[in-house]
Amino acid sequence: MNKNSDSVQSMNLKNSLFFSRRKFLHKALISASSLALVGCGGNGSSIGSTVMPSGSSTVTAGNHLTGTQSIKSIIIIGAGISALVAGYELSIAGHQVTFLEARQRGGGRVNTLYSPFNNGHFAESGASRIPSNHELTLNYIEHFGLAVEPFYATTGNYFELANNQLNIFSNSSYLNSPPWSGSVNRSEYSKIVGGMSSLPNAFIDTLRDKILYEQAVEFVEQRSDGVDVISSSGQTYSADRVLCTVPIPVRDKINFVPQLSTAKLQANDGGFHYTDSTRLFTQFSERFWQADNLNGWGTTDHPEEIWQPTWNQNSSGGIIQSYLRGNAAQRFDALTPLQQVIDVHNRWRIAFPNLDDYILDPQMNNVTFSWANELWSGSAYSSPTSSQQNALLSEVNRREGRVHFAGEHGSGFPGWIQGALETGLSAAVEIHQSS
Ligand SMILES: Cc1cc2nc3c(=O)[nH]c(=O)nc-3n(C[C@H](O)[C@H](O)[C@H](O)COP(=O)(O)OP(=O)(O)OC[C@H]3O[C@@H](n4cnc5c(N)ncnc54)[C@H](O)[C@@H]3O)c2cc1C
Repeated sequence: MNKNSDSVQSMNLKNSLFFSRRKFLHKALISASSLALVGCGGNGSSIGSTVMPSGSSTVTAGNHLTGTQSIKSIIIIGAGISALVAGYELSIAGHQVTFLEARQRGGGRVNTLYSPFNNGHFAESGASRIPSNHELTLNYIEHFGLAVEPFYATTGNYFELANNQLNIFSNSSYLNSPPWSGSVNRSEYSKIVGGMSSLPNAFIDTLRDKILYEQAVEFVEQRSDGVDVISSSGQTYSADRVLCTVPIPVRDKINFVPQLSTAKLQANDGGFHYTDSTRLFTQFSERFWQADNLNGWGTTDHPEEIWQPTWNQNSSGGIIQSYLRGNAAQRFDALTPLQQVIDVHNRWRIAFPNLDDYILDPQMNNVTFSWANELWSGSAYSSPTSSQQNALLSEVNRREGRVHFAGEHGSGFPGWIQGALETGLSAAVEIHQSS
């Protein structure tokens, strides 16, 4: 089934807000789909898909579902970005949508940590940066009236630590180079003012009364005329359609009747790779690195990215964070909390020799977030090999009867908000058009 052409036909420009940008967006989406595909970590291998992203189309915010379709009741499993965009567009089209979310919060892997930091500082545990060519993401941000600002620090020098050797880079040379091969330059990455959770929260504000939290779905059974869903509370919900947006590593917590396709079971059993990721955040009482003309940002050959997300947040002090992926994250997760801090700070100390003088309370000021240890994620983001992609990409979100699927794992932008949005929109079109 060609979801892309379905999407194009079913969408009609209703809201003129983005009319002037529409042609440009269409071009951008099509050209993005033909690029080699790399997840948000960037250091994974280039996937180079031959499969079109499932939602690549002219679908944009303000470009709502149209057409006189029968009104359906839909249960959406999860309240991450793919679920929210689907539920948002389906609600606008008049369908009755109910979200069952396992966590106490929405947003999934878009999760700004507003606590436990002091001084109003915050940092991202998940999605953090938006490249300028992710037009669909930027389009929804604009749709909700949210503002963006540079992601990378625009003042101060950056460092790279390789073989225990510290190399310093001027701000302009660093910003005018890409974070990994094939990416746009760092100067073209932005973040949402006030934190990345502002995007899911904007969706949630319009859907608030439709989202039920702490309702982990355990059982989905299709009948000839509908679907029954049972959550961890024991409650049974019935609907015409179900949209499942659960990440593959935790999809086997749900018992589907009839059983999922062989391809989906293969993916659930580890046949579709994910990359783990863990971040350690330390809050300092002063931005002492500025005395050395550093901005708190750099990389090490551990490998790790080091960010100072507070570089343009007001008030004194700041947070520095280590962003670990893959094997480095797994090795880190195996350490005790104390060993984790020692491990990271030992590397940082080469660039920031005085760091111990500025940690107020080591018990309170070191925060770790591991996506592998998250019960409702199981890992950070999908990163299938080329052969897994060729075999399973078009299968992992393929509809099965009355049950539809979405999530970044089934997109041409694995590991990006853009991928989650695309698949959510694609599923919304599929459900809207179903009889
Ligand atoms: C460390 C990290 C860094 C990232 N960096 C970037 C970045 O810089 N830029 C970018 O654009 N993207 C980035 N991403 C990717 C982006 O966050 C994801 O692609 C996107 O948020 C995925 O959305 P989703 O809807 O597919 O899945 P999710 O956000 O995972 O949503 C799935 C939802 O389902 C819920 N759920 C799970 N099981 C059940 C169940 N049984 N019952 C009910 N609910 C359930 C979960 O709680 C969750 O809310 C990053 C992700 C991570 C983890």
